[in-house]
Amino acid sequence: MPSIIQVDKIANYTDQDVRIQGWVYNRTDKGKLVFLLIRDGSGFVQCVAFKGDLDETTFDKIMRLPKESSVIITGKVRADKRAPGIPGGFEVGIKEIEILQEANEDYPMSLKEHGVDFALDNRHLWLRMPSQWAVLRIRATVISAMREWLDNNGFINMDTPILTPAACEGTTTLFETPYFDEGMAYLAQSGQLYNEADIFAFGKVYSFGPTFRAEKSKTRRHLTEFWMVEPEIAFCDLDQLMEIEEQFITHIVKRVLRDRQPELKSLGRDLSKLEQIEAPFPRISYDQATEMLGQIRSEVTDLEKKELLQFEWGMDFGAPHETELTGKFVKPVFVYGYPTKVKAFYMEPWPGRPEVCKSVDLLAPEGYGEIIGGSERMSNHDLLLQRIHEHNLPEESFKWYLDLRKYGSVPHSGFGIGLERTVSWICGIEHIREAIAFPRTIKRVYP
Ligand code: ATP
Repeated sequence: MPSIIQVDKIANYTDQDVRIQGWVYNRTDKGKLVFLLIRDGSGFVQCVAFKGDLDETTFDKIMRLPKESSVIITGKVRADKRAPGIPGGFEVGIKEIEILQEANEDYPMSLKEHGVDFALDNRHLWLRMPSQWAVLRIRATVISAMREWLDNNGFINMDTPILTPAACEGTTTLFETPYFDEGMAYLAQSGQLYNEADIFAFGKVYSFGPTFRAEKSKTRRHLTEFWMVEPEIAFCDLDQLMEIEEQFITHIVKRVLRDRQPELKSLGRDLSKLEQIEAPFPRISYDQATEMLGQIRSEVTDLEKKELLQFEWGMDFGAPHETELTGKFVKPVFVYGYPTKVKAFYMEPWPGRPEVCKSVDLLAPEGYGEIIGGSERMSNHDLLLQRIHEHNLPEESFKWYLDLRKYGSVPHSGFGIGLERTVSWICGIEHIREAIAFPRTIKRVYP
């Protein structure tokens, strides 16, 4: 019996008999020919039933086969440039078919565009569509590339707790849950503070896990549950941090370009844009970015847009600002040295300019905006304690965190990269909710 193959490896089996197990994504009847577009999880391939090759009952069954029926097809692989599919370029001449289950006829997902709510209510089925399948295959490769780079560059994977006693930056944006006799516990919005403890034992670490934010952001860039990779590095200043980030991003994009071309092409992604992503990335200060925005705004004639781009020193960038700024660059751009008051309490002050901190965000090009937030962390005990007081944070909750500055404090830095934002940018998709299998937003916890 011919062996079962994966569709993404079909090129290795030209002119051979194979078996493919999968589902009928689409069926087209052309009289004596029936075309089945079969998906097997690894790809989509056209399988052709020719009346003359099959007995009558089998051909009839194929002609009536409902979409999404599960099948095992035996047939011969032929190279044919015109054959649709992902990767495409091959078709299978059907010799035998085993039908495992004839799907119900009322499959709700059709090839036409669905409204967003309909698609999201049927997310469990929507995942089978080529676009969603491609994005999530790319996501898996991004995860693998992230781990690969960190593991190969001396980082130790440390998992940080999800149930935490206090917030990194206050409790207003946290999901809380009763915790036995201990009062409230909170779902982690970052593992950073724990990573900072870990580096004093391991030097370079990263955590990779789900992150929860209860902030009521309804933008196309915010989820309430997302995945974040947080590397943290001892003996590392802001410049060294930016070098690490640009190497890391370059590696991820190159891996996706190497391993996921068919998926990127099926999404219509402009590969030439990704091919330009190569370290080093441009670096501009927050001050320069402010000037650039002023310049951009002065050239805008549309009054509504002018209003949106309103900006003055001391504000944090919103999506419209990031879109305009990144529009000026083909590569991701670092913006460093934000005003202290828009950033978290633990960031190292800029030498001689206490109103500025050693923070850096990485903004992805083509309007995608922030994918990484990072900084050099404050290493002086007394200054950190002062900041904790200024931010009205409970000192007793940060006792262990302050200890890190008492016993062998060193300059150290780290960053957090949002997985779904990175995937959205690499895939070139509109909305972050498609970059995770089952998105959680402020209006959705189903399915
Ligand atoms: P923003 O200002 O865009 O809401 P942030 O400044 O709160 O983001 P950080 O706390 O620095 O973000 O988090 C690090 C990274 O995590 C961000 O650069 C982004 O990639 C990702 N991230 C943050 N919040 C979200 C969210 N709600 N949904 C998806 N990804 C997020």
